[in-house]
Amino acid sequence: MSLPLVYHHGYVSPLPEGHRFPMPKFKLLYELLIKDGVAYQDSVFTPELIDDSTIFLAHSSDYINRFRNGDLTHGEVRKSGLPWSPELVTRTMIALSGSVLSARLAHQHGIACNLAGGTHHAHYNFGSGFCIVNDLAVTSLYLISQTLAKKILIIDLDVHQGDGTANILSGNEDVFTFSIHCKTNFPFIKAKSSLDIEVDELTEDKSYLRLLYDVIPGLLDDIKPDFVIYDAGVDVFKDDPLGKISISLDGIYNRDHYIIEEVNKRGIPISCVIGGGYSKNLNELAYRHSLVHRAAKSVFDNAS
Ligand SMILES: [Zn+2]
Repeated sequence: MSLPLVYHHGYVSPLPEGHRFPMPKFKLLYELLIKDGVAYQDSVFTPELIDDSTIFLAHSSDYINRFRNGDLTHGEVRKSGLPWSPELVTRTMIALSGSVLSARLAHQHGIACNLAGGTHHAHYNFGSGFCIVNDLAVTSLYLISQTLAKKILIIDLDVHQGDGTANILSGNEDVFTFSIHCKTNFPFIKAKSSLDIEVDELTEDKSYLRLLYDVIPGLLDDIKPDFVIYDAGVDVFKDDPLGKISISLDGIYNRDHYIIEEVNKRGIPISCVIGGGYSKNLNELAYRHSLVHRAAKSVFDNAS
């Protein structure tokens, strides 16, 4: 058995020329993982669209239906950061379905990863910061509703705070939201996760990894989750145009490997999503995103 990965060719939808969101990265990531022998044709699972009832666990039906029908206001579309198109609707729903499928595969096999996901700025009834629907919240509430998990820990290490996730899941005792993010990055008004740790601009590998080594084991042992969802955003990278901290490629790989191994060695299933990452050089960006899949494969292969 190889590490289960989730991808759909519909993860990429067209955007206007010059748009800041690096949409082609999902396809490049898939091709790179196949080329480098991290993904195999028979270890890549293709999501089917999830039911509306699952989406509505975390989102208002009015918002989702207006998004689907192209009826969001100009202000709502502007806030989401993504111009509306029918292809964007398909892309949004299939990537969300991919995160749910990844969680189901992780429940079955211990570790699984989506090649998209981590859209943590999406709120109950509005999108924000290139995020339309919140796959972290939908997946968590799906797992709870299906009794596939009783206590979920979301570890969100994207450089931005998962404000949408924190707000949607606020007060939910079954899901613990944990975020490490840069204090001065978007969103400028932060939400309240179950636990937030803010790091300074220009934080480097040594202090960032030290922080993880200090916090993660205690968190896992205190919260005692029976499922972990990991948002492995690579906008922590030192040259990311939207992230203000300064982590190297080695630092990202070590971070991802450490998180997955700490969770896996406790016998807890972990589903990984890729989170944010930005660059004009899309091949370099795809490589950065592939670090979580390489780390997951290493832990998966060692454990099996
Ligand atoms: Zn981000």
